[in-house]
Amino acid sequence: MLVVNYIVALFGSPVMSNFSKSALVILVLLGAMAAAPPVAKVSVWHSRDLQKLRPASPESLGHFGNHRANFIRRDRTGEAEVHVRTADVFVIQTGQATLVTGGRIPNAKSSTKTEIRGASIEGGQSQVLVPGDIVQIPAGLPHQFVLARGAEVTYFALKIDGK
Ligand SMILES: [Zn+2]
Repeated sequence: MLVVNYIVALFGSPVMSNFSKSALVILVLLGAMAAAPPVAKVSVWHSRDLQKLRPASPESLGHFGNHRANFIRRDRTGEAEVHVRTADVFVIQTGQATLVTGGRIPNAKSSTKTEIRGASIEGGQSQVLVPGDIVQIPAGLPHQFVLARGAEVTYFALKIDGK
């Protein structure tokens, strides 16, 4: 606190020019920044906690600048989608689903400038996904989760902005 008092006293003093005051403010700010670096925080999502999540829609785990983490539980076929600037990475946790990728989305509609949606994919490739499977979908590629009646799938989805 002595330092603060000293600075306050200097500011009130007529001997201190505005330039000196500015320089002093910058020095004090730099000192504060050096003393308190930004704290990087780790995020861990335990399986036991994730599996309790029962979101009606995708459950966002967090937004980290250029990527967003979601835990998703699906019990029905999703929309066909294209993310113009975002890549998807999926890690299947439980259940089973068919992922259709590529091809085209008939009657596709833009839900935003960078998101395209539709009911289905024509001419895509189908692959069955089971727990432990990992998928990377580049930006711009049509994709859709197709679920059999009564089926459910949970997966970790990382959405990475970049293109
Ligand atoms: Zn997607």
